[in-house]
Amino acid sequence: MNYDSNLVRLDSRWMGDWDLGTMRTGNLDYVCVNLPRISYESKGDDGLLFEKLNEVLEICKLALEAKGHVIENRMFRDNELTMLSNAPDSEPYYRVRSSTRGISCIGLPEASKFHMGSLSEDWKEINRFSIKILEKIRSYTDALSKSTNQRWVVAQAPFDYYSARLAKLDIERFGREGVSLDNLDQPYYSTDNTLKKPSGCSLKEILEAEGRFHHLLNGGHTLTIPIPDSKISSRRLLEVTNDIVARTELGSYAFARSLTYCLNCQTSHIGVLQKCTTCGSTSAQLLSFDRLNGPQRLVENLLPARGSRPTRGWLVDLD
Ligand SMILES: [Zn+2]
Repeated sequence: MNYDSNLVRLDSRWMGDWDLGTMRTGNLDYVCVNLPRISYESKGDDGLLFEKLNEVLEICKLALEAKGHVIENRMFRDNELTMLSNAPDSEPYYRVRSSTRGISCIGLPEASKFHMGSLSEDWKEINRFSIKILEKIRSYTDALSKSTNQRWVVAQAPFDYYSARLAKLDIERFGREGVSLDNLDQPYYSTDNTLKKPSGCSLKEILEAEGRFHHLLNGGHTLTIPIPDSKISSRRLLEVTNDIVARTELGSYAFARSLTYCLNCQTSHIGVLQKCTTCGSTSAQLLSFDRLNGPQRLVENLLPARGSRPTRGWLVDLD
């Protein structure tokens, strides 16, 4: 198995060989589906929702096929990507035909919540419908893999740059009353799988629920577990880790909290600081990092996605 920090997952099932499946290849690209828009247009009609989803998946297919043709032409016809097409052992270094063609979703829980309307207070019901949507997409990519002999996958959205932009476009199109968003002034859609973690929902329940999504996301997934910006006992962290490994089906997870690095005294601190507690340097010398999904990123780079710092809707108290 090969995971990378952009959530790309390559497993050894491809061609039945770990080398061909996981080495010298990667992800060709992702196309991200704005699921809430499909949900708004379907007005609660299951048949219409899946029909529209299928139409969008066909467009995703065309986009990824076009990208595949461009890359193969550059490698083999135009010799523009010689680092990839170089053939030290008569086979091009980069196995472009083993690279994944990924379909991702944005706003999966928001789409399910809107679609279910008055039934949508039960987070387990919402998750069940989200799984139904993902199963449809997965069966589409599995069928495509068989018919094309290419590696089509479903993956968790690896980036959220477009999350706020798509949410704003949907507000313009459907109006403030016609969308499924918690914060209409700083709107964004989820890039993870489950709805905002409900109060009263235990960590164990969250981990079990997410594990069921990871089974379907064969092209990449991770659960980011936000923990408080405070001292945490290493024993408790180990207990949670053991629980995850022994009792859940999570494929990948990461604990996350914000960190600040001081360029002046080269020390790291927990939390987003305005002033270094070691040497007193202020903001020009400080870099703050946080994680939504995927790798840690500069907090200022997370702002376009969320409009503000991550709100950590389900901070996990591990003490
Ligand atoms: Zn300092």
